[in-house]
Amino acid sequence: MKQEWQVLRDSLDSPRGQEPLGQMPEDFDELAVLEEIQEELILQEQLVIEEYEQSLLFDQECLNAMLEGLEASDRIICPVCRKNNLTVKTHLVCCQCGLYISTRDMTEGKLRSLLESTVTEHSHRCLHSPEFTVTSGMEEEASLLMSCPVCDSWTILL
Ligand SMILES: [Zn+2]
Ligand SMILES: [Zn+2]
Repeated sequence: MKQEWQVLRDSLDSPRGQEPLGQMPEDFDELAVLEEIQEELILQEQLVIEEYEQSLLFDQECLNAMLEGLEASDRIICPVCRKNNLTVKTHLVCCQCGLYISTRDMTEGKLRSLLESTVTEHSHRCLHSPEFTVTSGMEEEASLLMSCPVCDSWTILL
C-alpha cells in the first residue's frame, strides 16, 4: 500500500513540477483522489493498529485466564455448600454460604491437608461420603464438623 501511494504521488508530482503550482482543474480532481486514497490509507492503518491492539488484548485475556486457572486450582471448595471457594485467612475461614470459623495460624495448605486427611481417613472405614456442617452453640464459637450417618461418626475439623 505504501508503495502504491508513493508511485501515485510521484506520478502526480512530476507533471506539477513543470507547471506553476497546479492551478489546473484536473489537478484538483487528482488531489481529491489523492486525499481519498490518503484517507483510505489512514483508515487501513487504523484497522491494522486496532487488529494489533485486539490481538494484544486477546493475549492478555489468555494470560489472565491462565493465571486465574492456576489460582483456582490453589483454592479450596467449601465442603459445606460445595459451590464457593473458601476464603482462608490467618484468623478465619469463611465462605459466601455463611460458613465463618475463627482459626489460628491457618493457611490454605494447612486447611487442604486437614480436609484431605480427614476425608481420606473416613474413606478407609466407610464408603459413604461424609457431610460437612457448621455447628454453633449460643456461646461457643462455630466449628466445622464432618459427620457421617452411615458409620455414625463425627470429627471436628476446625
Ligand atoms: Zn460454603
Ligand atoms: Zn461413614
